[in-house]
Amino acid sequence: IWEQFLQFIKANTTEVSYNTWFTSLSIYRIDEDVNIIYLATKNDIAVNLIKKRYMHLIEQGFENVTGQSYRVLVKLEEEYQEESRPALAARKRIQKFEDTNKLFNPRLNFDNFVVGNNNKYAHAAALAVAESPAEAYNPLFIYGGSGLGKTHLMQAIGIHIIKNDPESRVVYVSSETFTNELIKAISENKMRAFKNKYRKADVLLIDDIQFLENKDKTQEEFFHTFNALYEDEKQIVISSDRPPNQLVNLEERLRTRFAWNLIADITPADFETRVAILKKKAENAQLEWDDDLYEVCCLIAEKFTDNIRELEGAFNNITGYSNLLDEHIDVAFAKRTLRNIIKDSDGGIAPERIRSIVAKYYKIKVSDMDSTKRNKEIAYPRQVAMYLCRENTELSLPEIGELFGGKHHSTVIHSVNKITSQYDNDEETRKDIDALKKKIKEHR
Ligand code: ADP
Ligand code: MG
Repeated sequence: IWEQFLQFIKANTTEVSYNTWFTSLSIYRIDEDVNIIYLATKNDIAVNLIKKRYMHLIEQGFENVTGQSYRVLVKLEEEYQEESRPALAARKRIQKFEDTNKLFNPRLNFDNFVVGNNNKYAHAAALAVAESPAEAYNPLFIYGGSGLGKTHLMQAIGIHIIKNDPESRVVYVSSETFTNELIKAISENKMRAFKNKYRKADVLLIDDIQFLENKDKTQEEFFHTFNALYEDEKQIVISSDRPPNQLVNLEERLRTRFAWNLIADITPADFETRVAILKKKAENAQLEWDDDLYEVCCLIAEKFTDNIRELEGAFNNITGYSNLLDEHIDVAFAKRTLRNIIKDSDGGIAPERIRSIVAKYYKIKVSDMDSTKRNKEIAYPRQVAMYLCRENTELSLPEIGELFGGKHHSTVIHSVNKITSQYDNDEETRKDIDALKKKIKEHR
């Protein structure tokens, strides 16, 4: 646009003016966001004169050439340089901070990581690396089953290092993302940017390396990345679901490198650690740690033994439900909620779903079925729902009773028997039950 712009000026001013004021002028920057064009010149007389006499013409010129209206600012070149240095640096810092921040989940820090016998070795190694990157252990290789805290530790390392040294270039990446970025870089011809990003990191945290198995091209690239970083004495942390020697579909030269320094494993947490993790979560959620909550956490910790993610999931479900229904969390409440999750994941029908289908069918509230109301509008759907729970789930009679607001199992027997006989003798009931059974089937 600059050439066209000059043509316009040339045509609308005298040759002397043009030669004197405009030939030394140049575009410094165009800020498209706010429609400002910054012009620069070396000549300070020109700055003043242009400001006084030519601003209108210049703005017209740009509008003519671009079809858009811009505000135009003219300054001396030096002025720009003075103001831009710190401003530019600040902008870059903020940009980098935002980019880095996206890679880290602030929750996954060391404070929130509960140390138990199962992970104390990995935790100590991670903390050592976080305190003195590239000095303590390099590379650090952490392995363990799914949901045991590998990603949490990697993230904690990154967060810790950035906190200590905001200028440090810490890159966290899953092997999957690494692979996808590589493929993209190759297809878009942007290998240089890709290499720069990874080979110029101060700390590279690469998660779930087992994903690179059987991906020859990615392994090759990662091999070079690893070497470049290692030679520059940069910290590398790798996680995997298996120890290096069991990554059989990974190149030998990578496997041996992974084992160059420290290998730390994480095993499933013991009962006490599992309860401690839940206690930490309860604290973070600002829940009151009373006996009921303690018992509930013990219950969850008994049921979910080998995956902290599932352990947390169960806890979140229970606290979430309790929030939603505004109910106090105790063991009975937790059992009801858990039963729903567990049945759901088995592929069977969750009793809670049966209850909601029935409630909807009869246009009552689910909670009405938990009440002791005996009017027909409530009692009948309640009996139907109990009957359907008996038919469609593995729940025992007392369990069904509990599910319906803690009814005695004799109430459940009575309901089941009553509906069973009505199904045979009463056309209305048969129609209802058949319709409901069909709906339940659709939900499986
Ligand atoms: P992995 O990467 O090994 O599959 P994650 O690090 O994603 O597992 O952990 C799964 C969930 O369990 C995360 O929400 C994490 O915060 C939590 N978690 C795992 N171990 C611990 C621990 N020792 N203390 C607190 N939370 C943990
Ligand atoms: Mg993970």
